[in-house]
Amino acid sequence: MKAHEYQARELLVKFGIPVPDAIVVESSDAAAAAFDQLSAPLAVVKAQVHAGGRGKGGGVKLVRSADEAREVAQDILSKPLVTPQTGPQGVPVRQLLVATGVDIKNEFYLGLAVDRAGRRPVLIASAQGGVDIETIAKENPDAILREPIDPDAGLRSYQARKVAFGLGFTGKQVSQVCGIMASLCRLMLDTDASLAEINPLVLTPADDDHPDGRVLAIDAKINFDDNALFRHKDIAQLEDKQEVDAHERRAQKYGLSYIKLDGRIGCLVNGAGLAMATMDMIKLHGAEPANFLDVGGSASEEAVTEAFRIILSDDKVEGVLVNIFGGIAKCDTIARAIIRAADLVGFTVPLVVRLEGTNVDVARGLLEDAKSQLPTLRTAADLIEAAELITGAVTV
Ligand code: GDP
Ligand code: MG
Repeated sequence: MKAHEYQARELLVKFGIPVPDAIVVESSDAAAAAFDQLSAPLAVVKAQVHAGGRGKGGGVKLVRSADEAREVAQDILSKPLVTPQTGPQGVPVRQLLVATGVDIKNEFYLGLAVDRAGRRPVLIASAQGGVDIETIAKENPDAILREPIDPDAGLRSYQARKVAFGLGFTGKQVSQVCGIMASLCRLMLDTDASLAEINPLVLTPADDDHPDGRVLAIDAKINFDDNALFRHKDIAQLEDKQEVDAHERRAQKYGLSYIKLDGRIGCLVNGAGLAMATMDMIKLHGAEPANFLDVGGSASEEAVTEAFRIILSDDKVEGVLVNIFGGIAKCDTIARAIIRAADLVGFTVPLVVRLEGTNVDVARGLLEDAKSQLPTLRTAADLIEAAELITGAVTV
């Protein structure tokens, strides 16, 4: 689950990480009022959408008066925001964050992610902040510092100091940035986040009160592990359902694991492992899957019918591959759902079905009897044949 920047900032504050004051608004007049309320010479107006790279797309703008805040807010709210992460159609902007603007001396990247190979969280830091970390990793991998985190002990202070010095911090800045790292690490472990990222973390120029400057987080992105949300009710309710893909939302409602992909072959499979294997087979045969869809072990006929509805409403889908190994799931349930989906939605694209396991004979009989309703149906004896049939049907 993703959170908005303003929600992520609230969590940073809760864990003791300093951020500039900010106010969430939904209109241009409210943005102007927020500028006055912050009573600072500089503010930044920021689109609250889940996609990153907002700065590049014109979704983050500095303003110096209430009138300018109103104008900029009006502009950002009036059209979809296109960033390198949204696709050309962009995403609608419903909320803005108006934050006190800070003078920036340097921008850093600081993030915690899960290192799957190392089976533990990893702290990632770079003195080249502001830019997205993937670009730094590609163009200048040596500019990235990595520290593995022991999930029981958390970040050790020698590790924090090593990173702080590695980033070039000196004097009083070191204890500030070490504190921020320790807090971010605690935040990640306590909230079961899968990613907790501050980009940029900034160093401000020295002033009378802060001769070494101040270290602040001015942008934050936190993703949470969906499988742990049951024990974080407060975080689960931060979800902005409008930001979730409409199909993924419908799938969630029916207990289906659905992820939209870019290919042309829709897949309906039971079990995550089998779904991965099915996608591999499609790729091996030269095509691309249009989605990952795991209907789970105990899917009802209704849920499976909904799954077909979701797959078929994707206009990129030129063929559908059903691959079911009936263990707890019963093949006849799937067959009934196929027939029902044919009635309700209609299969105008090629459909290849491979069924095996519990009640497979009943299922085959049902599909045989419904042949006239399913003119595009072909059955396959195994996964290889299924992959051959479906890729052959869409690539000709
Ligand atoms: P993102 O593009 O979605 O990652 O949005 P960010 O919040 O990271 O902002 C993008 C860039 O805008 C930052 O890297 C900064 O260079 C700039 N920026 C954001 N807030 C401020 C601010 O308060 N003061 C100044 N001077 N620049 C800012
Ligand atoms: Mg950023």
